[in-house]
Amino acid sequence: MLIDTHAHLNFKAYKDDLLAVIERCRQEPMKVINVGAAYDTSRKAVNLALAESSFYAAIGLHPIHVYDEEFKAEDYQDLIYSAKENIVAIGETGFDYWHLQESLAKGAQSIEEIKKKQEKVFRQHIKLAKANNLPLIIHGRNGKNDPQAYQGIYSVLKEEGVDRGVVHCFGGSLEEAKQFVDLGFYLGFTGIITFDPSSRKISGGQHPKPLAKDVSSHNILWDIAKWIPENRFLIETDAPYLTPEPYRSKRNEPIYVKYVAEKIAQIRGSSVDEIISISSQNAINLFGLK
Ligand SMILES: [Zn+2]
Repeated sequence: MLIDTHAHLNFKAYKDDLLAVIERCRQEPMKVINVGAAYDTSRKAVNLALAESSFYAAIGLHPIHVYDEEFKAEDYQDLIYSAKENIVAIGETGFDYWHLQESLAKGAQSIEEIKKKQEKVFRQHIKLAKANNLPLIIHGRNGKNDPQAYQGIYSVLKEEGVDRGVVHCFGGSLEEAKQFVDLGFYLGFTGIITFDPSSRKISGGQHPKPLAKDVSSHNILWDIAKWIPENRFLIETDAPYLTPEPYRSKRNEPIYVKYVAEKIAQIRGSSVDEIISISSQNAINLFGLK
């Protein structure tokens, strides 16, 4: 069975047609983990999981929101007490160096201060995950001139002795991928893996020509997907964002996770059914889905 290990049906993007989106998940049928990015969306993810037996929730405060609200661990702990069976992970949490300017606009005094605050909140999430024996859903994003987000996350995880979780929508290097896998982590692949950078560069109606036959020269995720041990990868949409080809630029939704599986199957030379079955078993193993 298909499992979308990272979606946000709890976000406003679905306010007009949530039931239709859920119905398409039922028809598939599939399982979905909805991930919180702040207290309110965490609570909504839990409510969705309580209402829909094939839905699960992750709760946390996204690093881009640490200047929108304080992380109150006791509120999240209360959510866990209220829906222990339905909450399968803590997150998304981690370091985001892409949106630092936005945090400055929200009142942060310096880049250094933002990084310190993200780290403090990240460590609070780790503490909560440990206390409840739950895996972490990690968000990492490097900045244009600040490529240290994944290294920073790795250092904290190693120092805290954390070995259970997923680096969702992995966007680091192959070397960094190896580090996280060595630590015990899973890596999540989104629709970005279906994007072909060689065709994106061509504009003005010209026909794109691949630069080389070997796909590995185009998208670093293709190298990572080819390399990763089969017991360490997950598939996800990050819906409403990152819609895979052939629906790129439309709003994403969980059923499109199958296109991520298709691409990984092509890269690894396996069948789509095999990739779905392996990645779903990985999701069940990590999150203890029933
Ligand atoms: Zn997300």
